[in-house]
Amino acid sequence: MKEISVHAIRDALTKMVQDINVNYPSDIYELLQQANTQETNELAKNTLGILLENAEIAKQEKIPVCQDTGMAIVFLKIGQDVHLIDGDLTQAVNAGVAAGYEAGYLRKSVVDDPLYERINTKNNTPCILYTEIIPGEKVIIEVAAKGFGSENKSTLTMLTPADGEEGVIQTVLEAIKNAGPNACPPMVVGVGIGGTFDYAAVLAKKALLRDSRTPNNNPAYAKLEKKLLQLANETGIGPQGFGGDATALAINVEYFPTHIAGLPVAVNISCHITRHAKEVLS
Ligand code: SF4
Repeated sequence: MKEISVHAIRDALTKMVQDINVNYPSDIYELLQQANTQETNELAKNTLGILLENAEIAKQEKIPVCQDTGMAIVFLKIGQDVHLIDGDLTQAVNAGVAAGYEAGYLRKSVVDDPLYERINTKNNTPCILYTEIIPGEKVIIEVAAKGFGSENKSTLTMLTPADGEEGVIQTVLEAIKNAGPNACPPMVVGVGIGGTFDYAAVLAKKALLRDSRTPNNNPAYAKLEKKLLQLANETGIGPQGFGGDATALAINVEYFPTHIAGLPVAVNISCHITRHAKEVLS
């Protein structure tokens, strides 16, 4: 049995939320550079150049890449042979996120009661926390800082099995077209297929935390990702919605077994600064 202090998880998150808000993840930065190289529309190319310059300035000056510093989403994979010590895990996770947003002078965007009061909690917590038990003695921390310009354009649809691949493609494309410039394209799109109503959405979120340069390891789903990316880029929405080739940088699909009667599809839209990071404690 390995002992890991919740303070180590807290401290890792404090650094991670600051880092992802200032430094582009290497996968997204590389895809943005690639999009800039390949772009054929002059205005779009100019726009991509500005986004890359913005990324460089944020890194040099250690300031956030965007004013919307997002809501923190934390996925913890906890080894079943780990004993978490030194207190309450959920409190430690929220303390880590709060400390990071405070220390990094990051905008606090979380309100308590979502419907009536909507009072800012002033420390960007609570975060959204998912935990999963895995074999072994490690704790894997994954975090995203999700902006809501793009989150607001996400969808969840209960297709029928007869809708098949075509139904999935239509659903994803409709969400992308509906998002348009409001999702700050070029987008990264997480697609969750299967599971249940709720789990499809979790799959779509998980898809956004993946290295977007790496295709799904199931060749059929990798082919679907490629097809969806091509179709997304044929919409002509382009960087920031000004038109052009680069509407999406990546479409990441995650899937899970489902019921014989269903085909849930969640589309989690993200923007050109899809902030995510991973760290392993052992
Ligand atoms: S969607 Fe992304 S780029 Fe647009 S405002 Fe939100 S965080 Fe910033």
